[in-house]
Amino acid sequence: MSNSAKSLLVDTFSRSIDYVRIAVTSRCNLRCSYCMSEVHEDHFRGDSILSKQELFTIIEVLASLGITKIRFTGGEPLLHGDIVELVHKAKNAGITTVTLTTNGLLLDRFFPALVDAGLDAINFSIDTLDRELYHTITRRDEYGRVRDNLDRLLESPVIPVKLNVVLMRGINCDDIQRFVTLTREHAVTVRFMELQPFDDNQIWRTGKFLGADKIQELLKSSYPDIQTVRGHATQYFSFTLPGHKGSIAIIPAFTRNFCGQCNKIRITSDGKIISCLYEKEGLMLLPLLRSHAGREEIADLFRKAVIKKPVDGKHAARDSVRTSMSEIGG
Ligand code: SAM
Ligand code: SF4
Repeated sequence: MSNSAKSLLVDTFSRSIDYVRIAVTSRCNLRCSYCMSEVHEDHFRGDSILSKQELFTIIEVLASLGITKIRFTGGEPLLHGDIVELVHKAKNAGITTVTLTTNGLLLDRFFPALVDAGLDAINFSIDTLDRELYHTITRRDEYGRVRDNLDRLLESPVIPVKLNVVLMRGINCDDIQRFVTLTREHAVTVRFMELQPFDDNQIWRTGKFLGADKIQELLKSSYPDIQTVRGHATQYFSFTLPGHKGSIAIIPAFTRNFCGQCNKIRITSDGKIISCLYEKEGLMLLPLLRSHAGREEIADLFRKAVIKKPVDGKHAARDSVRTSMSEIGG
């Protein structure tokens, strides 16, 4: 199969799909209260999840379909025993940009190997720079190791680093200033994110939701000299502060207005293709892979998934049945 114009993934609204997020596992070593409950049941395990070889096949097919960016996510992707090989495979297959979203807890173990394998950039999720609050939010007493890993990353920036910070009203708003301070000395992008309606506890229904407009207001009132730069497709706005090496972004989710520019699809660890974050049912890739289908049949399933992409999926969010972001990787 070649990278011909015919084989590129284009949806019914003429959007070119060139970005795939792969959730390699739904397991996690933290229990962020807005993502999963303490007793979060790991539905996807053993034979019901994609094997390394199946992931390799998927990556090759995606490359042949003109996909240029893959993000490995989860659950916690560093819990997947083959994560370094997967990054290596994606780079070797010709994927231009290979990135990872991680909670950073195991980065000390994997970072050098990931960079050697060709990792291009990393999103590090950390919602507070306060030890006790970190414990409360994640239900795990791991701030020390996570913070050490973050500091190491910021001190020797080998690849671009973005921080994912989910802001919750009355919980971690005081952290806005702590994170902005980090951007003074470090070339890091801090991304303040809205809560999404996907979690076991439905925290977003309890008044903790903080909209992108409110986040912007808080930021501007604390930093009157902040400068606004128009963000790209996935960013509401980005900001810079005079003299700061890094930058700040606000990522709307529920109040998003950029669905129309969406260029991505997702793959779950149990082998479903999800064409929109808010889609309830995906297309089953796993049985196809296990029936030894040819590459062209697999590519066809991706084409079908892309055709299902709604022009704007957010209206479906209110009755979404997804129980945790860990199934789809954010
Ligand atoms: N475990 C990794 C991590 O936390 O970076 C990767 C998977 S996690 C599902 C990916 C991103 O989704 C994280 O930045 C996390 O904060 C975010 N996330 C999870 N549940 C969310 C929710 N209900 N609303 C908004 N963001 C959420
Ligand atoms: Fe785990 Fe990431 Fe979900 Fe937190 S947000 S529980 S680190 S998958």
